[in-house]
Amino acid sequence: MRAVDIISKKRDGQSLSDEEIAWFIDAYTHDTLPDYQAAAFLMAVYLRGMEPAEIAALTLAMAHSGEILDLSDIVDYAVDKHSSGGVGDKTSLVVLPLVASCGVPVAKMSGRGLGFSGGTLDKLDAIPGFTSDLPEARFRALAKESGLVLAGQTKALAPADGKLYALRDVTATVASLPLIASSIMSKKLAAGANGIVLDVKVGSGAFMTQLEEATTLAHMMVDIGVRAGRDMVALISDMNQPLGHAVGNALEVKEALETLNSSGPEDLRLHCLEISAHMLRLAGRGERWTNLTETKAYLEQQLDSGAALQKFRQMIIGQGGDVRVVDDPSLLPNAAIVEVIKAEQMGYVTQVDAYKIAMAAFELGAGREKKTDSIDLAVGVVTHVKVGDRVEAGAPLVTIHANDAAKMPACRILIEQALVYSDTPVDALPLFYDTIYGD
Ligand code: URA
Repeated sequence: MRAVDIISKKRDGQSLSDEEIAWFIDAYTHDTLPDYQAAAFLMAVYLRGMEPAEIAALTLAMAHSGEILDLSDIVDYAVDKHSSGGVGDKTSLVVLPLVASCGVPVAKMSGRGLGFSGGTLDKLDAIPGFTSDLPEARFRALAKESGLVLAGQTKALAPADGKLYALRDVTATVASLPLIASSIMSKKLAAGANGIVLDVKVGSGAFMTQLEEATTLAHMMVDIGVRAGRDMVALISDMNQPLGHAVGNALEVKEALETLNSSGPEDLRLHCLEISAHMLRLAGRGERWTNLTETKAYLEQQLDSGAALQKFRQMIIGQGGDVRVVDDPSLLPNAAIVEVIKAEQMGYVTQVDAYKIAMAAFELGAGREKKTDSIDLAVGVVTHVKVGDRVEAGAPLVTIHANDAAKMPACRILIEQALVYSDTPVDALPLFYDTIYGD
């Protein structure tokens, strides 16, 4: 095969065969095909799109470009979740111990964040001593012994995606639905999951700002998973305002602990119950946890009894962290400056713009622009209001946690822009817009 023929075929809008796609990805992974040809291929895909069968073939080729994690000797059924990324999204920190506390093992590989907020691993870095850098043998041992482990994704997993993503970044081809769907799903398939719950965010603080686009992406990813023989479900969730209250790494760990203690924000609790119930439904394989309402009631008991928090403790100990943070979150990194912004007058909240809030936290140092940037784990913002709330004059709106006074003015401006009020009542935002089942 010749790369130029494959590129020209896609350029002219024709469908590629599984063999052509597999050959192209294999050649690029092994450096026998140059970046300029891969870049031309990406642009052709960006402009011409791909058929569902092509997207599945691309995903499988990328998944098989490196190691495929096989957890079958440890767990009967591996269940995973993936969030497309949002502001204040600390869902994994709650959901994984919650699901594991129900006797469903969770061995998850996660990524670090790029952009306005940290990823799950960055958040966990806030726990002193905790390590997500685990050799495979330790990852497997923890999965077997305690049924919960959360580690960093190794470079050996879907290396073609790593190379292609870097190329997409500099060739204006990131925003292509087939390329996004295959990129996300290649890593999920390589990580060995049998069942996958996708949390596709939509709104100002999400990758996808439009419901139609997010729905198309969700359908694409569910279709890929089903074609690859996995059990799939995708939830489309709101990301117009932050999830929960806290945005910033240590602040989010604290809020996750509160939620595991049944004292966290209501929206985060409900969101986590929904995601967890779908993970259990997949793990139950049509025999257990088939009724979502009953499953959520069971999960509530696991939260309220402290069983999920106990699993979280076990994970921290197993991964070398200081477990005292569970009972004393003041041991997490704390910011030097804490400032509360209060409402000047009474009103109904019509907007807590997730993107602006994320940028406010980013200004303080909560995220990273480049992979090599360091994150200030202590800083961030905590919002005290949700869309639909009535606030009285003098009520706290947002608390800023900063370490550098010079960064405060830009942060304050963004917070001011994020919050909008009305004199008349407004409806709360929904948590979820849709559920797309693969079965
Ligand atoms: N996340 C990924 O892993 N890949 C994309 O292309 C976009 C988001």
